[in-house]
Amino acid sequence: MKSTGFGERLVQLTRYPNVFPVNAYLVREDDGFTLVDTGLTGGEEAYIAAARGGEIRRIALTHAHGDHTGSLDALHDALPEAEVLVPAREASFLRGDLELTPEEQQVGGLKGWWKAAKTEPTRVLSPGDRVGSLEVVAAPGHTPGQVAYFDARDRTLIAGDAFQTRAGIAVSGVIRPLFPFPALATWSLSSALESARRLRALSPSRLAVGHGPVLEDPLEAMDHAIEAAERKTESRQRAA
Ligand SMILES: [Zn+2]
Repeated sequence: MKSTGFGERLVQLTRYPNVFPVNAYLVREDDGFTLVDTGLTGGEEAYIAAARGGEIRRIALTHAHGDHTGSLDALHDALPEAEVLVPAREASFLRGDLELTPEEQQVGGLKGWWKAAKTEPTRVLSPGDRVGSLEVVAAPGHTPGQVAYFDARDRTLIAGDAFQTRAGIAVSGVIRPLFPFPALATWSLSSALESARRLRALSPSRLAVGHGPVLEDPLEAMDHAIEAAERKTESRQRAA
């Protein structure tokens, strides 16, 4: 597991950094750490070791795709006292219920690889809630209930798969040919575009995503990614 620190509080933990990078993040708090996302299965020991010198107090998910929920059950077994925080809409996916509700965009249905967990959330999250110092921000599109986490202390944004930075920055749903997987796993591009604008409006100083490197001063790059997603949405609408 590759571990990279950013500033005082953020550690990026990357499995398979060269082939198929899957990120989770440790966020330092006064009482220990929050772990955002749990990567693929088998990562638990490395995540716990990376938090050496502090306990993982909270485990928070951005969404319930299998490359974000993989080590949740094993982490919960190893750290039974840690809170388990899951976006409300994603909690049913995490239980294995993969039905869309009638109000949700049906086009194409749910996409990507889902991995249910037996671990129950200790608390489900809605936008505006807090997880330690992190503010929960709605970021649907990649999945119907995805959230991002914004650290107002230093304006770090942990965006899940709302953006990718591997093979170039993109809004979720816009294909990067050298790393197309997040786009192929995306439920709704139009909703992802709305979320990308909402996240950009937070003016983050640092962008941390599920797949790809952390970007410092990411606003210009986010703007370019949003423009590319707008062009793609417009060309789809013309074709329809
Ligand atoms: Zn995903």
